[in-house]
Amino acid sequence: MYIILLGAPGAGKGTQAAIAAQKLKLVHIATGDLFRQAVEQGTELGMEAKSYMEKGILGPDELTIRMVQERISVPDCESGVVFDGFPRTLTQAEALDGTLAKQNKAVDKVVYIMVSEEELMKRLGGRWICRNCQTPYHATNLPPKIWGKCDLCGGELYQRPDDTPEVIKQRLQVYFEQTAPLIDYYNHAGKLLEVNGEGDADEVGKRIVTALGGVR
Ligand code: AMP
Repeated sequence: MYIILLGAPGAGKGTQAAIAAQKLKLVHIATGDLFRQAVEQGTELGMEAKSYMEKGILGPDELTIRMVQERISVPDCESGVVFDGFPRTLTQAEALDGTLAKQNKAVDKVVYIMVSEEELMKRLGGRWICRNCQTPYHATNLPPKIWGKCDLCGGELYQRPDDTPEVIKQRLQVYFEQTAPLIDYYNHAGKLLEVNGEGDADEVGKRIVTALGGVR
């Protein structure tokens, strides 16, 4: 099963992809996390990715597609994947279709998580992430039990450098221009499921599983 979670930055793709991957026993692939790992490791890819991320713009399609192709060729992905933050352009969506088709596979469903722009701004502004396991928290909506520490692994929480008001604005603009057209692309393919992404994370998680047909 190959599922894509589509939505603006701050729509809750990371949180929901982790929930869905666990429930459906799929591998969670977040391209943003792959880029951030490369930045932390100081690899060549990381140095290139850093400059795009800091500006709130997308990395080049070719680089991103290659990174995803490498990741999905690992055997743990054979039974399926939840994609989070990928694809983000039509070129990426077409490349994913092509890559899966070569293995006689296809994207099964695309969950579009809908959240108002006002709510997105609020969420991104208060977001804190675990440096170790990437679990997201929110200063007011979802605070950790101990301030600054991850409830799950005790890792240090940090604010993403691209969660500043100027970069958030840029990332939303990039989303509306380059990623939102994918809503039509997958709608035409008969794969789109629209889910209300407002409310608490567990509630949204239930809506997603119901939309996917109550799978498992
Ligand atoms: P995210 O954590 O998904 O918000 O991604 C953080 C940043 O990583 C984005 O602002 C982009 O610079 C880069 N990035 C993540 N996914 C992609 C993608 N599919 N295509 C291009 N750039 C990406």
